[in-house]
Amino acid sequence: MNKVSLNVCPLCGGTQLEPTLTCVDHYVSGEVFRLYRCHDCGFVFTQDFPAETEIGRYYDTPAYISHSDTRKGLVNTLYHWVRAYMLRRKARLVEDQAHCNGGRLLDIGAGTGYFAHTMQRRGWQVEAVEKNVAARAFAEEHFGLRIQPENVLPDLPGQQYNVITLWHVLEHMEHLNETWAHLRRLLAPRGVLIIAVPNSSSFDARKYGAHWAAYDVPRHLWHFTPDTMQRMGAKHGFILSGHYPMPFDAFYVSMLSEKYLHHSLPFVRGLMTGTAAWFKALARKEQSSSMIYVFRGRSTC
Ligand SMILES: [Zn+2]
Repeated sequence: MNKVSLNVCPLCGGTQLEPTLTCVDHYVSGEVFRLYRCHDCGFVFTQDFPAETEIGRYYDTPAYISHSDTRKGLVNTLYHWVRAYMLRRKARLVEDQAHCNGGRLLDIGAGTGYFAHTMQRRGWQVEAVEKNVAARAFAEEHFGLRIQPENVLPDLPGQQYNVITLWHVLEHMEHLNETWAHLRRLLAPRGVLIIAVPNSSSFDARKYGAHWAAYDVPRHLWHFTPDTMQRMGAKHGFILSGHYPMPFDAFYVSMLSEKYLHHSLPFVRGLMTGTAAWFKALARKEQSSSMIYVFRGRSTC
């Protein structure tokens, strides 16, 4: 298999990289992948992950709900209910941060198009990109959205987007620094960049260790924390202007983690851990299972 082995930290360029956790791909392949940590900056990533040309088959399951939209099973039903709530919350967050109720919005990794559709209905001029062909077809069929493939990013016009969003997408993107460079180029001078990613320093990540479902190897390549996200943004000319917890994710992630551990009553156990994680995130938002980061371009004058 064509694998990507990193010998330089994508965040700081450090070369002292150490194995930290060994994780199993529970969703698709059952294969084992190792997470490495940079000694200098603490950035964690999946080592020896399948190259872009090969990663497709690791998404090839109906269980991958962000693409296939399956409603089978209690956990997925709950996921869909939470998604409706989160769509409204995301839309409000975007409008609060952008200080307006319309403008040009680019959604990267749009999946099946729910968020793009929501924003379009609220009056935004929405463009979206997504690399998965089936997800693009779903978005077109259900919402009439014309979503472009991900490889158009370099060809999109610079400094045109008032808002750019990446909802649980950045951790999947192989070319991390190139992606950040695109974001910097595409964002309008007073624009806002909103990125949601799992938080590998969260309460539930620490509780489950290698079994934490949001490591999701090898689909998740980068395992961010509030600290590494802030530094990654700064490296590419952004200032972190806010970060917000996504405490609902802890319930879903904990239930999946319990399932992967083959514990009895994974739903009940996951609910209990999710509740504990909720309270932890209330006390200190940096403990939240996933975080939303709001970046603005650093002024060049
Ligand atoms: Zn580093």
